[in-house]
Amino acid sequence: MGPLVSLLLLLLTPAAVPGHGQVHVQSSRGDTGLVPALRLRTEQADNAAQYAGYQVLRVNVDSNGTLDLLRTYEDRPGVDFWTPISPLVPTVDVMVSPDVRSELTRRLKDSGGSYGVNIGNVQDAIVRQNPIPSPFYLELLEGRQGYQLTWKAYHRLAVHHQYMDYVEHEYRGLCSTFSIGISTEGRNVKGIRCGLGEREIWIDGGIHAREWISPAVVSYLVKDFSATSYKEQDILKAFTIYMIPVLNPDGYEYTHTGRRMWRKTRSRTPGSSCVGADPNRNFGYHWGEAGTSTNPCSDVYPGSRPFSEPETRGVRDFLLQHKNKMEMYISFHSYSQMLFVPYGHGTERPSDYDELLRVAQKGAAALQAAGGPAFRVGQASRLLYAASGGSDDWAKAKANIKYSFTFELRDKGFNGFLLPSSLIEQSGRETAAAVKAMIRAIL
Ligand SMILES: [Zn+2]
Repeated sequence: MGPLVSLLLLLLTPAAVPGHGQVHVQSSRGDTGLVPALRLRTEQADNAAQYAGYQVLRVNVDSNGTLDLLRTYEDRPGVDFWTPISPLVPTVDVMVSPDVRSELTRRLKDSGGSYGVNIGNVQDAIVRQNPIPSPFYLELLEGRQGYQLTWKAYHRLAVHHQYMDYVEHEYRGLCSTFSIGISTEGRNVKGIRCGLGEREIWIDGGIHAREWISPAVVSYLVKDFSATSYKEQDILKAFTIYMIPVLNPDGYEYTHTGRRMWRKTRSRTPGSSCVGADPNRNFGYHWGEAGTSTNPCSDVYPGSRPFSEPETRGVRDFLLQHKNKMEMYISFHSYSQMLFVPYGHGTERPSDYDELLRVAQKGAAALQAAGGPAFRVGQASRLLYAASGGSDDWAKAKANIKYSFTFELRDKGFNGFLLPSSLIEQSGRETAAAVKAMIRAIL
């Protein structure tokens, strides 16, 4: 949208509401205000260029031979598995460089395997995913509504932080910001609590950096529990809801400025040139078992020890301090359209599995009733793959949080991690319906 169009739109919409003053981003280490949007555009262009010629293939895994073939590509440069190599699912999505593409497709054909193409041009999909509004428009927006966040684009960390500051300022007495610590690179792991109740709920997003729909959906929940809180009085009187949109701020920023497909944290591993640990393999319950790799260059490297990452330590310390009040834990990921119930490290089930399943099914039903797609409900270890050291398993087993869930948000691979920003609003609306139904199921 050009500046002139933006200006016209502004003139056609209601004037700034009195009291909606500008809330400036607080300066803290590594979070020194809004990055000029102009620079952001250049960075995105650089970022996209890294994936020139890359494609995302969907490989059919109807035989063990194909699974074994795919395993030989694990940890190879130019290969990025978007879904796990697992005998539980009929297909595996993998992003490949042009070189790997010709080799892999030839070997698949030779061995009688087959594949389709999910994304024919990753670079184009990156650019298309998130058309960035002009800096002029964002400034107008901030003047009008008090913050730059929209649910029409994916935003930088500072914009998420600015929005939480705005909500705290505007809904004083209902919502206030908090922090669970500082990331490896010095960014604030910031959240906002809303509600007046004694009972507590935890919601986090963005633990995996590239899953951009997750922070966007959590910020949508923040809006629902503040701007339209009058509709949710039953929930907000009983509960206080702690929400962290971007749990892995270093990784998230890196997906905007460095590599779009980054997943892990940005910590340094002694003795390796590879960076980061998978924060959702870093929790201290069945740490380092199924679905992890001891290779620090792997995307599922669980860290050098449980809770090696400051971001996961922050969650651990906060949840243990709230051990007797916290009743529900929800973590947001993408993609697959699934809603996981513990445990994920193996097929073992908690004794109250049926009760958790009841609540999750209410969520999935509400999501669909709000116009969303069908979500499969069950254990990750049975629906997708076993993965150990996950936050939801730890929350259930070690932090004593009865209702612990993980969402894998839209879509099912057509766009994968590159879900267009035009789908944020609908994803937010349907997911908020699910979360509220789940909370009401335990009210
Ligand atoms: Zn994830």
